[in-house]
Amino acid sequence: MSSTQTVASDTPRRYQLFIDGKWMDAESGKTFETPNPSTGATLAEVAEADKADVDKAVAAARRAFEGKWSKMSARDRGRLMYKLSQLIDANSQELAALETSDNGKPIRESQYVDIPQVVENFEYFAGFATKIEGETIPVPGQMFNYTLREPLGVCGQIIPWNFPLLMAAWKLAPALAAGNTIVLKPAEQTPVTAMELGKLIQEAGFPDGVVNIVPGYGETAGAALASHPGIDKIAFTGSTEVGKLIAREAAQNLTKVSLELGGKAPNIVFADADIEQAVNGAMMSIFFNQGQVCCAGSRLFLHEEVKDEFLDNFKERASRMQVGNPMDTATHMGPQVSEEQLNRIKSYVEIARGEGATVLAGGEPPQLEGDFRAGYFFQPTIFSEVTNQMRVAQEEIFGPVVSVITFKDEEDLIQQANATIYGLSAGIWTRDITRAHRFAREIKAGVVWINTFNMFNAASPFGGYKQSGYGREMGKHALDLYTQVKSVWVDLSGKPMGWFGK
Ligand code: NAP
Ligand code: MG
Repeated sequence: MSSTQTVASDTPRRYQLFIDGKWMDAESGKTFETPNPSTGATLAEVAEADKADVDKAVAAARRAFEGKWSKMSARDRGRLMYKLSQLIDANSQELAALETSDNGKPIRESQYVDIPQVVENFEYFAGFATKIEGETIPVPGQMFNYTLREPLGVCGQIIPWNFPLLMAAWKLAPALAAGNTIVLKPAEQTPVTAMELGKLIQEAGFPDGVVNIVPGYGETAGAALASHPGIDKIAFTGSTEVGKLIAREAAQNLTKVSLELGGKAPNIVFADADIEQAVNGAMMSIFFNQGQVCCAGSRLFLHEEVKDEFLDNFKERASRMQVGNPMDTATHMGPQVSEEQLNRIKSYVEIARGEGATVLAGGEPPQLEGDFRAGYFFQPTIFSEVTNQMRVAQEEIFGPVVSVITFKDEEDLIQQANATIYGLSAGIWTRDITRAHRFAREIKAGVVWINTFNMFNAASPFGGYKQSGYGREMGKHALDLYTQVKSVWVDLSGKPMGWFGK
C-alpha cells in the first residue's frame, strides 16, 4: 500500500540566518533559492551568508563560549541536548517531509532513517555531557599528575546535502556535549532542515550564540569559515577535493581539522554467500538515498562462480524498483539532489561505455509524468564488464550506479579491493566466518560490514582510512574531535626542586 504526503504549503518558505540566537538577513541582503529536486519548483528562499556574516557568527560563538556556555554545568548542557532531541522527535513528521522536499530522498528514508537517527545522536551525546572525564597518571615521586579534558572552543562545521539534518546532528551533538560553541554551514542545495533545527535549538533554550547557522555557498561562506582565524576547529564532510582545500586553508592558522570524505567501497560476494541476501544487500548498498552515500557499495566484486546467478537476480530486482515521487511511501528512489549531480551521473554513463563497460540496467532517466518530468531522476544503473582500473571503478560517482567486477581468488581480490585512494567502508558476503574476519583485518577501510551493509548507530564510530579523511564521528571517539587534554602537575613534597634549590 502506498500513500502520498505533501509539504504544508506550496508557497516558498523564507529563512534568515541564525546568529547569536536571533534571525537576521545577510549583511549583503542577498538570498538564494533551494529547489525541490522532484520538480525544480522553489521550496525556499534563504538568506545568503558571506564573510561578514561568518565574522558575526564566529564572534557570537566566541562570546557564548567565554560566557554562559562554559559556566553551565555538564548536567544542564546534557539536559538541553536531551530536550532538543525530544523536540526533534515531536516534529519528526514535518522534518521528514521537508527533508524529502529539499533533498529528494524517499519519505520512507527520511521518516525511518534520517530523522530517527538525528534524535538518536542528540540523545546519545546528551548522556555523554556528564561523562567526559580526565585521568590521574601514576607518575613517579611525590607528584600528582592529572588531566583535564576541555572543549576546543569555537568549531566551524561544514556539511553536505546527502543527509542534511543527520550530518548536522553528527557534528553538533558531540561538539555540544563537550562544551564547544558552533558555526554551522549547511550545503546550499539543502539548507531547510538545518534552519528548522535553529528554531528548535531556540525553543529548547540554548544560550544565544552557542549554535549559529549560516547557509550560503561553499566558495564564499564555507571558505570564510574554514580560513577564519577566530575558530579553533573545522569539521567537514563532503568531497575529497574540497576536503583538501579545507585542510590547506586551516593550515594557515593551524586550525584543527577533521574530515569525512568520499569513498568507493568494495562490496564483495563470495561463492558461498546466501545469494538472495547478498542481492538484497547490494541493492541497499548502492540504491539507498539514490546512491548519494559516501560509503555506498559502488564497486561490486562478484566471484565468477556466482556472477551469472547474482546478476540475473540483481538486474531483475533493479528494474522493478519504483523511481518517482519521493513523497509516495511506495517509492524506492526519488530524484538526485540537483541537475549538476544528474549531469555528473549521465557523464559517467558515457565514460563507462567509452571504457568498454556494459550497461546491464538503467543508464538513463526514467519516463515520468506531469511535474516530475522536470525532476532530476535517474534509473538504478548497473555497469558490468568493469575492471578495477577503469574510471567508473576509481572515481566517486555519487549516484545509483554500481560497477561490477569479477574475481577468482581471495588474494587477488584483497589487492584489488584495496587498490583505491579511498578507504571509508567495505562489505563482504560469505558464510565462512574465518574468511569474513580475515577480510575485516586486511581491508583498509574505517568500517566493515559482514553479511550486511549501511548499518549505523550513534554509539559506533564512523570515518575513513586513506583519502576518505581523518577522525571518527559518532561513538565515544567523536569526543576526541571536540576536546583537548590538559596535563596538570602538582608537587606534593613541599621541597625545593632538584639542584636549583640547593
Ligand atoms: P562539496 O563541494 O564537497 O560540498 C560539501 C560542503 O562543502 C558544502 O557545504 C559546500 O558548500 C562546502 N564547500 C564547497 N566548496 C567549499 C570551499 N571551497 N570551502 C569551504 N566549503 C566548501 O560537495 P558537492 O559539490 O556538493 O558534491 C560534489 C561531490 O562531492 C559529489 O559528487 C560526491 O562525490 C562528493 N560528496 C561526498 C559527500 C560525502 O558524504 N562524502 C557528500 C557530498 C558530496 P556548497 O554546498 O555551497 O557548495
Ligand atoms: Mg557544491
